[in-house]
Amino acid sequence: MDDQPKPSSTSAPPLSSRPKWVLPYKTQNLRDHYNLGRKLGQGQFGTTFLCTHKTSGIKYACKSIPKRKLLCKEDYEDVWREIQIMHHLSEHPHVVRISGAYEDISCVHLVMELCEGGELFDRIVKKGHYSEREAAKLMKTIVGVVEACHSLGVMHRDLKPENFLLHNVEEDAPLKATDFGLSVFYKPGETFCDVVGSPYYVAPEVLRKHYGPEADVWSAGIILYILLSGVPPFWAETEIGIFKQILQGKLDFESEPWPSITDSAKDLIRKMLERNPKKRLTAHEVLCHPWIVDDRIAPDKPLDSAVLSRLKQFSAMNKLKKMALRVIADRLSEEEIGGLKELFKMIDTDNSGTITFDELKDGLRRVGSELMESEIKDLMDAADIDNSGTIDYGEFLAATVHLNKLEREENLVSAFSFFDKDSSGYITIDELQQACKEFGLSELHLDEMIKEIDQDNDGQIDYGEFAAMMRKGNGGIGRRTMRSTFSLGDALGLTANGSKTSD
Ligand code: ADP
Ligand code: MG
Repeated sequence: MDDQPKPSSTSAPPLSSRPKWVLPYKTQNLRDHYNLGRKLGQGQFGTTFLCTHKTSGIKYACKSIPKRKLLCKEDYEDVWREIQIMHHLSEHPHVVRISGAYEDISCVHLVMELCEGGELFDRIVKKGHYSEREAAKLMKTIVGVVEACHSLGVMHRDLKPENFLLHNVEEDAPLKATDFGLSVFYKPGETFCDVVGSPYYVAPEVLRKHYGPEADVWSAGIILYILLSGVPPFWAETEIGIFKQILQGKLDFESEPWPSITDSAKDLIRKMLERNPKKRLTAHEVLCHPWIVDDRIAPDKPLDSAVLSRLKQFSAMNKLKKMALRVIADRLSEEEIGGLKELFKMIDTDNSGTITFDELKDGLRRVGSELMESEIKDLMDAADIDNSGTIDYGEFLAATVHLNKLEREENLVSAFSFFDKDSSGYITIDELQQACKEFGLSELHLDEMIKEIDQDNDGQIDYGEFAAMMRKGNGGIGRRTMRSTFSLGDALGLTANGSKTSD
């Protein structure tokens, strides 16, 4: 009995009020049937391990809840209810399926279907760039689970991205709801008063201690806001601060990326984050909202990680193309580059007019990039045309301007004539050297570069060859002189006109 909880805290109820066993029946020994492996995750109550069924070799996840964390009779009942509810919902394709429960002197173990793809949260944080279409698909699944729970008389009460797991590591892995540790059975019209859940996701009426299943829809609405922007809508440094925001804070649809998100998505979020639970959409109504139902409403265009993509692409270009882009960017109208100016200001947090490595790193993290320092360094070096160690506005424009701009004939012509100083109709190696000096670029490998562009081998570049190079997909030219190790075009699935090829 050395695992018995010690009465360390004065608030802990006396041991006598805690039952010794959680499950109403005696179980077999977990270790007789399963081998326990590495730790998969850690939650508030349980630690989840990989486990392998000894006879079949099938892998499962085993959530072990130490009994010493269960402080009172209610805690014990919660665990038993979690098991019952998981069984109750186990037919649902998007709920983690339970396969058995075990109990020993120190722990209760829940053996369930293994989800190897990690938490939805990881995917949001790391990948950052979801199109609305993808977010809509995820939301359909999440709210589908909520609807199923409600139709079976279960309120989840702890919906958050950490409690949705991806079944495998594939891009299109199905999402599975887990962690019914705070879930309860309810009857229509019944209200609850215990304040449970997780700070960012808790509904206002839960904080007011009078709530029903509508609270789950609120939490799903918070998840949706995060899916589209990467940040929770109600945010503060402290828990009290978060609760204040939840109770009376204004929804921010002004900051990036909201201006570029469809009105339909915002309409749905507003209706899910309606403070009056009676007026809030039900799970079923959410599933009928046009943004969820109509595939054509949520666009498939990638969200804000465009900056990252363009930087990567830029780094794969040869010098001439980079210089040309800079020339073109200089001549674009305010209207065409206004958005990039805002972006530049956003990344240049100290308003110095130049972006440092740290600012770039921060900026990329904010758009959800998971690049390593060395990779960011490569992008920085690539954009820093004049090797000053920082990126100025012109360089930033050149590196991030939408590549469809360089497709336009008039832009190509003006860039070509910029290099062709003597208007001979050809860019010569001397003219290229001169341009490199102007841009502070090294003149190394210029011959090689010309050879790649110069299709008729006359040692100079005519307009046709220039235009072909500019329009050619990236990574084709200059790969040999590239410092960066990315296979950029591939990583992005982007073509020269900036559109996505496949994804
Ligand atoms: P808690 O009730 O303590 O929050 P959870 O059920 O949320 O416990 O599990 C804790 C963590 O363990 C999860 O966030 C997840 O990372 C991991 N986990 C839970 N269930 C599984 C599973 N079926 N497959 C893989 N990992 C899991
Ligand atoms: Mg959890």
